Amino acid sequence: MVVKSRLRWVGHVHRMDDHRLPKIVMYSELSSGYRERGAPRKRYKDSLKRTLSACDIDVQGWSDLATDRSAWITAANNKRLRRDNPTQTPTPHPCRHCSRICRARIGLISHERACRQRHGQPP
Ligand SMILES: [Zn+2]
Repeated sequence: MVVKSRLRWVGHVHRMDDHRLPKIVMYSELSSGYRERGAPRKRYKDSLKRTLSACDIDVQGWSDLATDRSAWITAANNKRLRRDNPTQTPTPHPCRHCSRICRARIGLISHERACRQRHGQPP
């Protein structure tokens, strides 16, 4: 949601007239690495880059994409769509000795070790 709204905002600002203040500020931050007090240099630029690549948007060509509002919104929705339709659900790992189900294999291994001793079964 944060990623989506950030991208929407960036696209919105990109489509503003060049004299609009938010656009001037955003681009001066992008080009100069404007620094908030105490914040690392180029923080905004870097976080935008991260956001873009998380959504599979070309870091160099993002502004061309942002010019087309509907294409930009579609691109910004990419990440959310992928997350809403997970291709794989995590496999549960049931214990062979009791009814416990572990979510991770590594958790099952350590559980079964303790469980085996508790139930007095040979290793
Ligand atoms: Zn068990």
